[in-house]
Amino acid sequence: MAGGGVNAAGRASGSGASRGTAGSGGGRGAASAHRAATGRGRTHLPVHDGEAPAPADGVDEAATATTLDGPLLPVFDSQQPLLHRLLGEGDDLHHALLLAGLPGIGKGAFARALAQGLLCEQLPKPPAPVQACGTCPACRWFASGHHPDFRLLELATSESRSSRAKEGAQTTKAWDISIDQVRDLEHFITTTSARGHARVVIIDPAETLSTPAANALLKMLEEPGEHTWFLLVSHLPAQLPPTVRSRCRSVAVPQPVQDEAMRWLQAVTGLPAADAAQLLAWSGMAPLHARDLADPAHLTVYRTLLSSLSALPDTGLDTVADKATTVPAATWYYLLLRWISDLLRAHAGAAPRFFPESASRLASLAQRSSLVRLAEVSAALQRQAGLVRHPLNPRLFMESALTAYLEAFVRRQTPGRAHPR
Ligand SMILES: [Zn+2]
Repeated sequence: MAGGGVNAAGRASGSGASRGTAGSGGGRGAASAHRAATGRGRTHLPVHDGEAPAPADGVDEAATATTLDGPLLPVFDSQQPLLHRLLGEGDDLHHALLLAGLPGIGKGAFARALAQGLLCEQLPKPPAPVQACGTCPACRWFASGHHPDFRLLELATSESRSSRAKEGAQTTKAWDISIDQVRDLEHFITTTSARGHARVVIIDPAETLSTPAANALLKMLEEPGEHTWFLLVSHLPAQLPPTVRSRCRSVAVPQPVQDEAMRWLQAVTGLPAADAAQLLAWSGMAPLHARDLADPAHLTVYRTLLSSLSALPDTGLDTVADKATTVPAATWYYLLLRWISDLLRAHAGAAPRFFPESASRLASLAQRSSLVRLAEVSAALQRQAGLVRHPLNPRLFMESALTAYLEAFVRRQTPGRAHPR
């Protein structure tokens, strides 16, 4: 079960997250797991011909199982068959996979589970589920975050996620994955693998590869070494250069279904079913996003933002803008997109998908807004998805989005004025 299964991905990703939780999964979410492995994947690693680390470093796994951060990063039940199928292809598996899917559904954990399976030296054969055994030396090295034949390329960061939650939206993450990071791979993929088995590189999020970095990667994708796999993770695969995309096999990572998402969210947050269901709805059934929203600080901000957004256009833009500047752009961006999506549904007479509790407000707003303009705003916003991670001017980005949204409303007070379509 996704909710309870401390699986290969959980171990793999959690291992780096915090010393001493190896074996139980870090479960701090994709961002943290990514951060956890920062440096480990890029810096030079010690030679590994000695003994693999003990599976759990002597730490009581149960001790980490009840924190809000949660006991594990899931490979959800609905994603397991895909994992087994890919690993079951063995050496025939395409050397470069583009793992695509919605944000917040666990693509990063899926990639790690796949990486661990590719590196596993005692991979079970069908009909057993083909997934990392979790006990061989390779699996233990992977769980410790020190497998010598594994590299993780991600956005470099110097910040601590836990302190960021307290200090607001400050982030020092790099804008992109740099060419230096990719160049560091050259030696890695051209020398013999340390354990003589396989080599795996995860690039996450792949859409943040800078153009020079993508070009450098292209050469590696064209002439991959033997038993070398590249796993590119992205929720914006269209933003990758076509040359890179065309050398990858696209794999759609499925979204978890409601039941398993609920089970997992309740397990990691301890929330009652009704609250978990509301967070899942708000997140668009993206459990990792829902888990982040369950943080009381995030939740308060989100609720405030939602109520001020819902008050538009009866209140001024500034009210929303002031609140939105205190949160990462992704928070208000996805909220606005989902709000407009529900508004479009209201236009069509359909029930809200994300904000069922605001059904009557959405219905009344639908009567005052232009369907065409809303659809245009939504499309324009989606085209700007790449800006969300690092808007050049966060306040300007947000104000222009909100202004466009407001223009979708009919201004009944000025009868002489042209009707906005
Ligand atoms: Zn193994």
